[in-house]
Amino acid sequence: AADVLTLGETMVALRGSGPLKLGGSMDVSIAGAESNVAIGLARLGHATRWAGAVGDDEAGELVLRTLRAEGVDVGGVTRDPDAPTGLILFEPRLPEVTRVHYYRAGSAGSRLTAAPVERAFTAPGGAPRVLHLTGITPALGPSALDACRRALELAREHRTTVCLDVNFRSRLWSDEEAAGVLRSWIPYVDVLIASDDELPLCVPETTAAGEASALADELRAQGVREVVVKLGADGATAYTGDGELYAPARPVRAVDAVGAGDAFVAGYLSALLDGDDVARRLDRAVTTGAFAVASHGDWEGAPTRAELGLLGAGPGTVVR
Ligand code: ATP
Repeated sequence: AADVLTLGETMVALRGSGPLKLGGSMDVSIAGAESNVAIGLARLGHATRWAGAVGDDEAGELVLRTLRAEGVDVGGVTRDPDAPTGLILFEPRLPEVTRVHYYRAGSAGSRLTAAPVERAFTAPGGAPRVLHLTGITPALGPSALDACRRALELAREHRTTVCLDVNFRSRLWSDEEAAGVLRSWIPYVDVLIASDDELPLCVPETTAAGEASALADELRAQGVREVVVKLGADGATAYTGDGELYAPARPVRAVDAVGAGDAFVAGYLSALLDGDDVARRLDRAVTTGAFAVASHGDWEGAPTRAELGLLGAGPGTVVR
């Protein structure tokens, strides 16, 4: 059985080195919040299944080949003959500012269905221990929203732990639309991961004005076991039955902030699967998050288990 099942859209990612309109060459890779988490978990040694959809095209081959190479199970993936694999362009415009351009409307990934989710829960070996969803997938279209709802129901039936990373994308839907869906999901969620500005999307209007700790209390009253708030370069805070625990970020030279949140989730879930306590879960999460910001690309810098200890090394360290 898979330790973790996740689903969502993964696109081909093209990354240039300057303004897009000047042309030039680009690096070709893949990007998707959920598959970033899947790769992060696979590198740490967990059995991980990604149940998305790609086009029946060469871009889809690149997505699947990359995930396979990283040890992610893509056995349940759908090849959609009627829609292309989506595309994302990263345009580094200033050292601190990267623009992102999407070509994903109507893509195969946005048309993902509940079928691979059903298969994953009925696969030989039993249901996954953890289901990981993001708030991106339900915004892609009615069929993707339906696949997520079905996944939540199946997780409840099989007592699978549900992790939700809010990952609000204002280009895909409005605050109101997101709040409508996310609030209806909260009763299914065990581990909620969000930035502090995303928490109000998850709690009813009447209580939405409070501090992070008040919002976390409200979410915990609705059955969420742990609320984990990502604070960027300031680290993260977890609100659990044992109270509130803060972990500062690990100091690193930041070269690319994209993917930090996904790497953080992979670290958190990895330690959760290992049976570690909250302090150790946060510690692994800020460590994998720091690896992501210290490396170019969305997932390329994700550490293996043996590499987790590299982070504390001093400048100029050579590992022979
Ligand atoms: P993204 O959507 O770009 O993946 P996010 O907003 O979801 O990011 P952040 O809060 O930016 O997530 O980052 C997640 C975690 O990564 C933080 O909680 C922190 O532990 C780590 N992190 C982020 N930025 C830095 C940094 N500059 N230095 C060290 N660690 C960082």
